[in-house]
Amino acid sequence: MTELDQSGSIGRCASNYVQDLTDRLESFYRVELGIQETIPLHEPSFSGREWAYVKEALDSGWVSSVGPFVDRFEQACAAATGAAEAVATVNGTAALHIALLSVGVKPGDLVVCPAISFVGTVNAIAHCGAEPAFVDVDSNLALCPRRLGSFLHEECTGSGESLRHRSTGQRVAAVIAVHVFGHPANMTQINVMASNFALTVVEDAAESIGSLYMGRECGALSRVGILSFNGNKTVTAGGGGAVVTNDVDLARRIKHLTTTARVANGFEFDHDEIAYNYRLPSLNAALACAQLERLEEFVRAKRALAERYRAIAGVRFLAEPVHVKSNYWLNAVLLDCKADRDLFLQATNERGIQTRPCWRPLPLLPMYQAAVRAEAGIARALDLASRTVNLPSGPKIAAALV
Ligand SMILES: *Cc1c(COP(=O)(O)O)cnc(C)c1O
Repeated sequence: MTELDQSGSIGRCASNYVQDLTDRLESFYRVELGIQETIPLHEPSFSGREWAYVKEALDSGWVSSVGPFVDRFEQACAAATGAAEAVATVNGTAALHIALLSVGVKPGDLVVCPAISFVGTVNAIAHCGAEPAFVDVDSNLALCPRRLGSFLHEECTGSGESLRHRSTGQRVAAVIAVHVFGHPANMTQINVMASNFALTVVEDAAESIGSLYMGRECGALSRVGILSFNGNKTVTAGGGGAVVTNDVDLARRIKHLTTTARVANGFEFDHDEIAYNYRLPSLNAALACAQLERLEEFVRAKRALAERYRAIAGVRFLAEPVHVKSNYWLNAVLLDCKADRDLFLQATNERGIQTRPCWRPLPLLPMYQAAVRAEAGIARALDLASRTVNLPSGPKIAAALV
């Protein structure tokens, strides 16, 4: 259950509360926090060891994809997710592409994908030559386990290697769960639904580093998961990603695929299959190592900011479900209707407050409009995406509070 569920019926669309909300937010930033310049949506903070580690990487001569910082980065990613293994990648999309390949996603397969996520999630499916099968979201914008269950029960047949989508005949190879804005998806139910069909769950934890689900870190809650270290994420490498898993053999396969399938053979450069140059450069790893040291600090500050926002706003927020501790990567308010959302985006941005709408639901993007959708439709995704707005949530604003 979430705050959204408890909040009662949707009110009439009226712009008064939008103006009021804008005023209160403005006074929070300008008066209480004393910030006069533009309030960015998510600006990184480099006040830890970031400069020192990047300099150390430069001084060492190890700037490319081999070197001590890349190994350290992998250890830190494993530690941050409680996973046994982590493999560094150039970004989160590449991590997801490799994660899908590593669990056997092949050209022509279907991969179940929530109707709301960053476009990288579904692009990674397409990069495998596979196609998405879109399923609606729950009240926290994550893959709805009930809708997943009915899709598998009613629209698919068989299980495991022979699980097929009835009307297209395509094999269903995996399901991706996304922790949107840092709030963990209902992984218990998603894992149960998937395991009933021997279907592999891939966790897109790009936004949820540091979030806990029933006391366990996001990223390692299923067979394989991915992280992103893009510039706007909680922890950044400039650009970067990682695949995490508890499966040692799978991790070895993933590393092989990300490093041009190179095989050791004396002085020879030998490669035993077509693979990818996806390994994270050392310079980026150095930056990420310094940032990862501050993960707890970032999460503490973001949670304090989320609490403060809830006290200010008097509107509904996407909030952490029970039994989870969210990193609140991006705070999100839910307005009464799309017209109010547009008004709020306009009013805040005019006053130098960088708010942004939720992503357009993935099945509406031109390249995915013809994709398979579960028969139950994506009404919830359409509704929530049209009313959700992200508020400035960067570590600098958050730090001003704690
Ligand atoms: C950021 C993000 C990605 C992709 O990460 P990049 O590092 O930008 O490639 C994938 N999925 C989700 C949900 C994201 O937010």
